Amino acid sequence: MHTLDSKTDVVLDGAAEYLNMPHSRLQELVDKRDIRQNWGEYQHLFRFDTTVAGIQNGSVLYQRNGNFELIRGFPKIRRAMLLEPAVHNHFSTIDSVVVEEKMNGYNIRVVSIDDHPVAITRSGYICPYSTEKAKTLLDASFFHDHPDLVLHGEMVGPDNPYVPKDIYDIESLEFFVFDIRKKGTGEPYPIKERRRLASEYNFTQVHHFGEFSTDVAPEKIQQIIQDLGAIEHEGVMIKDPEMIVPPIKYTCSQSNCGDLRHAFKFYNEVGRDYLFSRVVREGFQAVEWNEGTQQLDERCLRLGKSIIYPMMDTIRHIGEGERIADNVQIRVRDLDTVDKFKEYLRRLGVDAIFSAPKRIGDEYLLSIKKPNRSTNDKTDAILKGDLW
Ligand code: ATP
Ligand code: MG
Repeated sequence: MHTLDSKTDVVLDGAAEYLNMPHSRLQELVDKRDIRQNWGEYQHLFRFDTTVAGIQNGSVLYQRNGNFELIRGFPKIRRAMLLEPAVHNHFSTIDSVVVEEKMNGYNIRVVSIDDHPVAITRSGYICPYSTEKAKTLLDASFFHDHPDLVLHGEMVGPDNPYVPKDIYDIESLEFFVFDIRKKGTGEPYPIKERRRLASEYNFTQVHHFGEFSTDVAPEKIQQIIQDLGAIEHEGVMIKDPEMIVPPIKYTCSQSNCGDLRHAFKFYNEVGRDYLFSRVVREGFQAVEWNEGTQQLDERCLRLGKSIIYPMMDTIRHIGEGERIADNVQIRVRDLDTVDKFKEYLRRLGVDAIFSAPKRIGDEYLLSIKKPNRSTNDKTDAILKGDLW
């Protein structure tokens, strides 16, 4: 018997057996807080903060009617740096691949817990905002009919507290289904079956560009990427139709640069790997696409502009005595969701200042300011003469 949290006295009897690990090992993971208990109405849920015994971080474990259920974390998707060799090498055991659009938003798993749809983030938290959205956007009968399934998708649009984007024709926030998997094993549905099932419930799905033989796929994808880049969309996912070989991703230069534009505004907050990897991608894409001087110069200019201009903006604003901040917005039906979302961000240690709610029809719009203290302080210090 394991008391995973003595404060609330929630007991996960049999969890070690379910996870196929010794009791002492489970207790150790709980003590080290590698497995953590949720709070409030979801305190019977446990989140994996690290990958343990083949169960990756972000996975969620809970008990339902005396049985355990495991919702596996969404698997990491590796990136093609050069389309041609990556597609041939990665998919060498199959003849054709499906190309789907990679939407730029945030990853959410929706499952039914105690008969209500609940939205879980990549790290395994229950996001109150996304949960309200899942309830309004999705036909809940899916979860009654398929209590054993997990719906994976991207929350996309401007009313987005994590990755707001105006590049899509979305008024508020949409949920784009890109995967359906089984609870427990995490086994994915083959693409055709997944798309059929999702359409039965009228779910919005990621765009399907087609299925191509692996011989022609790199060339087809290059064209798709150029078209997507022109409208500032993010890129594609290249998938095995049977979902046995794991998918890989490939993105547009314009989207890499979009990331850099945002990141260099807050240059002291953003990890260096994040910035560096986006620059390296440009080098490989430029070589593979064998660009002429004019195209290459455009690429160089695009990259340089996305680094220098946002930084200049930041430095100037702070020089004028302003504080820079990341501004996002949310739109809710129920003001209770706002309180829950505030509490959620507080627990995650995210600094956020909420505006007063503004009524729009039967909903409320709120803006959220996330101050970037580190970039503000660093820039301010440099402006006063500090050395790097
Ligand atoms: P990863 O750990 O998977 O590399 P990341 O945080 O680096 O994730 P991304 O570079 O955005 O994220 O790429 C993976 C993410 O893309 C997925 O986690 C998913 O949220 C998102 N995504 C968007 N569209 C799709 C799609 N069609 N199929 C699968 N994933 C998609
Ligand atoms: Mg993403």
